[in-house]
Amino acid sequence: MKKYRCIVCDYVYDPVKGDPDNGIKPGTEFKDLPDDWLCPLCGVGKDQFVPLDEKSEETNKEIDMFCYQCSQTAKGTGCTVKGVCGKEPTVARLQDNLLFAIKGISAYLYHARELGYTDPEVDAFIEKGFYTTLTNVNFDAMDLVKLALEAGEMNIKTMQLLKKAHIDNYGEPVPTEVPTGTKKGHGIIVTGHSLKALEELLKQTEGKGINIYTHSETMPAHGYPGLHKYPHLVGQLGKAWFDQKETFSKYPVAILATSNCVLLPKDEYKDRLFTSGVAQVPDVIHIEDYDFTPVIEKALSLPELPEEPGKIVLTTGFGASTILSLKDKIKELVKAGKIKRFFLVGGCDSPLPMAKYYREFVEKLPEDTIVLTLACGKYRFNDLQLGDIEGIPRLIDLGQCNDAIVGIDIVAALSELFGLEINDLPLTFILSWMEQKAAAILWSLLYLNIKDMYLGPIIPGWANDDIVNYLVENYGITPIGDPEEDIKKIMG
Ligand code: SF4
Ligand code: SF4
Repeated sequence: MKKYRCIVCDYVYDPVKGDPDNGIKPGTEFKDLPDDWLCPLCGVGKDQFVPLDEKSEETNKEIDMFCYQCSQTAKGTGCTVKGVCGKEPTVARLQDNLLFAIKGISAYLYHARELGYTDPEVDAFIEKGFYTTLTNVNFDAMDLVKLALEAGEMNIKTMQLLKKAHIDNYGEPVPTEVPTGTKKGHGIIVTGHSLKALEELLKQTEGKGINIYTHSETMPAHGYPGLHKYPHLVGQLGKAWFDQKETFSKYPVAILATSNCVLLPKDEYKDRLFTSGVAQVPDVIHIEDYDFTPVIEKALSLPELPEEPGKIVLTTGFGASTILSLKDKIKELVKAGKIKRFFLVGGCDSPLPMAKYYREFVEKLPEDTIVLTLACGKYRFNDLQLGDIEGIPRLIDLGQCNDAIVGIDIVAALSELFGLEINDLPLTFILSWMEQKAAAILWSLLYLNIKDMYLGPIIPGWANDDIVNYLVENYGITPIGDPEEDIKKIMG
């Protein structure tokens, strides 16, 4: 007697036992079940059952999707193989993808709104996107891909909005050297994306003998004249977000986390940590309305840091106008064969071992190449001394992850300068992702139809074979591999 498995909830119909609770006597073969018999666990019909064999038992162990957003959810805990509502795994995953892109957009939109900038078109898209993922609304995979591309377009608008907000308030960034040591005096380390929070803190600490240090995504602040003008904005401590526990333990100063990428703190610095904006951590004081008095009081109560210059000086603040002012020189160097290729190596950093790829990749690039970078992935290699090609720096830091818009503007300008389509330029994108803002940026680049990008450190977990194949076939997305091999392949 053959057993049958429900492909939605994994319930196994065993003919030896039957289904006495629903009037099916033991010994009833699956084929003899009445046509209106329903799965006793999730309520789907007989058409959703397959014969149970060794292979399907193996398949049972995989989670093809996860959704528990409505009361029909399989076994009352989650649809993991297929939705009780009929939702296919690829549709469920594309819904998740859309939500992730929207989360990314929301972060940039939030920081623009902090400075008084909003966009009703983006707000309307966010409503539509959320609504699309409700139960029994949209089961169309290709429409969800279209919506993901629309999310990419909306993310471009949002990054433009935030860039305008930053430039209107703090001026166009200029290349700026950022020291990495400590200055004698009290200190506050600021981590996160909110330039508004940093500005308010700089104003409130003026003349109080407190030095302000940036960390991770805050470093690009040094390039903005309206923030650089504060003499007590003195440098950068630590690298990307995941070194917080080490950096914040090492420097006994007050710490302010202004956005995502705040980690649950170690006890040894929990009482020195403060959050503002969306960031919140249990048992840590949250600052409302940019009144940083508790942070300042804490900083003054702690010992002064010694004067200890850092071993390296970083450079940030390359805005679109700085790069574009060099366009004639760039054109001349490309024509003369002195610049062979541009690389945009950017995105998030993560502690995954594969993330070592990015440093090795940049280190091994030929000397006739230029690297544009942004976001915290740059900390993997921004200490490298790559020199310049006749005055054009080989390593150009464009800023935070939202400054992907600067990268996009530069790419558009190069396309015009050389009279070539973007995909025909001597340019390759080497991307790293960690969280949902990177998902939004990836869809922005796909919206611009940029092809043959390298992606790592891993392929996103929510992309199944269907989604990966679609991205490979339509956009030539390639997972990062061996740095040397990848360079060889790209340089030809
Ligand atoms: S919406 Fe569909 S897939 Fe999600 S829990 Fe409900 S039945 Fe399952
Ligand atoms: S680039 Fe990504 S991972 Fe890094 S701090 Fe920004 S949001 Fe976080």
